[in-house]
Formats: sequence, C-alpha cells, structure tokens
Amino acid sequence: MKVAIMGAGLSGLSAAIILERYGVSPVIFEKRSQAGDRFINAEAMLSLLTRPIIDPIRYLSEEFQIFLKPISHINPIIIHSENVQTIINEHVGFTNIRGRNKNSFEAQLASQVTSKIRFNAEVSYEDLLEKFTHVIMATGDASYAIKLHNYREDLSVSLKGATVEGVFTRSEVSVWLDNNLAPKGYAYLIPFSDTEANIVVAVPDLTNEVDETITDYWNRFYDLLKSHLNQSLKITDQFQITNYKIGICDSPRIGNTFFTGNCFGAIMPFLGFGQFESILTGIYAAYDICGLGKYDALTEPLRKSYQHSLILRRGMEALNNQAFDFIVARMNGYLGKQLFKPSGHDPLKWLSYLARPFV
Ligand SMILES: Cc1cc2nc3c(=O)[nH]c(=O)nc-3n(C[C@H](O)[C@H](O)[C@H](O)COP(=O)(O)OP(=O)(O)OC[C@H]3O[C@@H](n4cnc5c(N)ncnc54)[C@H](O)[C@@H]3O)c2cc1C
Repeated sequence: MKVAIMGAGLSGLSAAIILERYGVSPVIFEKRSQAGDRFINAEAMLSLLTRPIIDPIRYLSEEFQIFLKPISHINPIIIHSENVQTIINEHVGFTNIRGRNKNSFEAQLASQVTSKIRFNAEVSYEDLLEKFTHVIMATGDASYAIKLHNYREDLSVSLKGATVEGVFTRSEVSVWLDNNLAPKGYAYLIPFSDTEANIVVAVPDLTNEVDETITDYWNRFYDLLKSHLNQSLKITDQFQITNYKIGICDSPRIGNTFFTGNCFGAIMPFLGFGQFESILTGIYAAYDICGLGKYDALTEPLRKSYQHSLILRRGMEALNNQAFDFIVARMNGYLGKQLFKPSGHDPLKWLSYLARPFV
C-alpha cells in the first residue's frame, strides 16, 4: 500500500500521525517550504460548535493521542451588536495560532509526524493517482473537488485581517454581529499574546466589488476598535482572502481518494470554523486506510453538522441590526448560560431545526 498525502496542513498531518501509528508510512507533499508557511493568525475552537464534544483539545488527546497546545482557554467571550454588548463568563473554548510560528497547530502536528515531509513539492493529483494506491487530498481548498465535480459550493467569503499591537487579555475574545461592520458576516478580535491580536472582518461575497467593500468595512471596524479600546493598535501585518469557498463534497471518498479538511467540507458555514473538523477528517481517512472504520460513515456526523450550520448561516443572513441587538441582549442571562455552559447537548442543532421553516 502506497499512501500519498497532498498538503501538510491540519488534516494531512493528522492523517499522517494516525497512519504511522498503524504502520503505514505516507509520502507527504507540501507545496510550501514548511508546515504552516503562511501569515500568522489566531484562530479559535469553540465548544458551542464542537458539541457534543465539550473540550476538543482533550478529546483529540484522549481519543487519538494527538496533542495540541492552545494559546489560551477563552473566558470570557464578549458579543457585541450595534447597540448591545454581552459578556459570557464561561470557559467556551480555546484560541490557537496558525501559520509561521513555532507554536502553530501545523508546527505542533508536524512535530508528531516521523515521515519526511517533501516541501516545495506542488504535486498534481493526476500524478499521485498514477504512483500511489491511496491519495489523501488535504490541500485546504476545494479546487480538485470542484474539478472532479464532487463539490457543492454554498457560499464564498472574503476575509480581511491584521495583526495589531496593543494591550490585551489573552483569554478574552470579542465578536461583533453588526451589519454596519460586516454585513451578513461578523468581525472579531482574538489575542495571541498579551501584546498582539488579530482583528478580522469576514463577509460573504455578495457583490462584485468585494475588494473595495471589505476594505471599507475593515477600516470602519479598525476605527471602532481603536476608540472602543482606547489604544492606537499599530498594524504589524495584514492579510486578505477573497473567494474563500464554503461547501461540501458529494462523496467523501472516490475510489481510493479521500477528501479531507476543507476539501471534504470541514468549514462550518455558520461561523466559518473548520479546524477541529479538518483534524477529524484526517484521522478518519487514516482509520479507513488502516481498516479501522469506513470514511463515509465516520464523516456522516460532520456532514449533518454542516447542514445544521448552513441553516443557521442562512438564518443569520436574514437578520438586521435590530434583531442582532435583541438576540445579543437575550444572551445576557439564562439564554447565554444555556448556550455556552459546557454540556453534552448541541443547542445549535436544535436552533437549526427551529430555524428551518423560516430559512
Ligand atoms: C482567516 C481564517 C480564519 C479562520 N479562523 C478559524 C477559526 O477561528 N476556527 C476554526 O476552527 N477554523 C478557522 N478557519 C478555518 C480553518 O483554518 C480551516 O478549516 C483549516 O485550516 C483547514 O484545514 P486543511 O487541512 O483543510 O487545510 P490547511 O490546514 O490549510 O492545509 C492545506 C495545506 O495544503 C498545502 N497545499 C495546497 N495545495 C497543495 C498542492 N497542490 N500540493 C501540495 N500541498 C498543497 C497548503 O500549502 C497547506 O499547507 C479559518 C480560516 C481562515 C482562512
């Protein structure tokens, strides 16, 4: 059996760790010069989005012996709408770092892989099919899934972000649900040290002039933050991504090709989270190859979550600022506690059932 992994990101490296554990040495091809060779940004894992698994870091460690160190747990999360702010004082998840940083999730996963990673190797799927018995497609984008007519795109998003210097509380994450700042999307601030944070605006691509508009929104958000935090927030790095596709493949596996991570449809449409799902799909693909399970069946719960998440996304797109104010105000109290307190229930699933008739 000869297994090729296309991409040394979250899903590809997770697959490699499990394959090696069961005696299969994959060949890992990475088009960039190191694992995580891209802009640094802070991301998050929210337990609200991974339920019934409450603690994704602990779950990966206990169930699969994949060990990841986050930057911080999150407590509190502060949710803002145009006129309301709610502080949720619960442990709601973790922040972590991605990209060119020795502690990035990619770097941490790469350190748990023993097979040599072939860097600067941008390989084509067609080549790999000829030379290997199995291919794990883990390129972090949908291009091959689309080429193979195996992908349903539901939306695409533009993201503009920056690293800023300031004084931050590591464990405090803030989110803005405000159509003036991010129409039908959201904006957020995630610290990744006591002096650095990422500030990001994410909006669905609804017009043809996204480039100009996302810059306008981002500038508005940046100005608001500076006055809100009363800090100058010096920008030290910036990134912009357009046409980031959110969708899902029709078949998680075609022949001996396994679509993992974003190639599978790991990004959940509601808030664009996909790290945990990407790692799981990598693990499940490796399980299938090692005869420990069936990829289609193992990924089925993720496919269902994707559908729930898509309903919530469509619901969110229909909300105006008045509605956001109403919802954010209600989170201050019983509703917020029920949503965010650690429990084995999946409230988003039930919310998606409730939203279904209206979306
Ligand atoms: C700005 C931003 C913020 C985000 N925030 C969050 C968040 O807060 N929480 C969350 O859960 N999710 C978040 N996500 C989503 C999450 O990052 C992704 O779902 C996840 O990284 C996807 O993992 P992956 O394994 O599919 O791809 P990646 O981890 O991106 O890895 C893909 C790898 O494949 C390589 N590659 C590509 N093409 C080839 C090729 N032809 N040959 C060889 N190698 C190739 C790439 O260089 C890369 O190293 C965010 C995404 C973005 C863009």
